[in-house]
Amino acid sequence: MSFTLRDFDLLLPADLVARGRALLAEGAVLEIVRTEDGDWQASVKGTDVYNVRIALTDREIRAHQCSCPFPGETCKHQVAVLFWLRRDSRLEAFPGE
Ligand SMILES: [Zn+2]
Repeated sequence: MSFTLRDFDLLLPADLVARGRALLAEGAVLEIVRTEDGDWQASVKGTDVYNVRIALTDREIRAHQCSCPFPGETCKHQVAVLFWLRRDSRLEAFPGE
């Protein structure tokens, strides 16, 4: 499934979106950095601390992964990071990528 920072919360299951939003609200996104190749890498605290990686082209989400054992394609940790990225002003500094 393809989605963007604007519409991922409309396309993903509502319960998953709610859990991701709650994670962000409780401060579970510990750190987020931009890697040398332009991806976003975050540490998210859950049962353990998981590594989430998001690749964006402009605001389209090209790839997303998480180190947690959740069997589905998208987990709540990724959703928390997507919400964080949506509101992050640093994204405006990288237009057109
Ligand atoms: Zn996860």
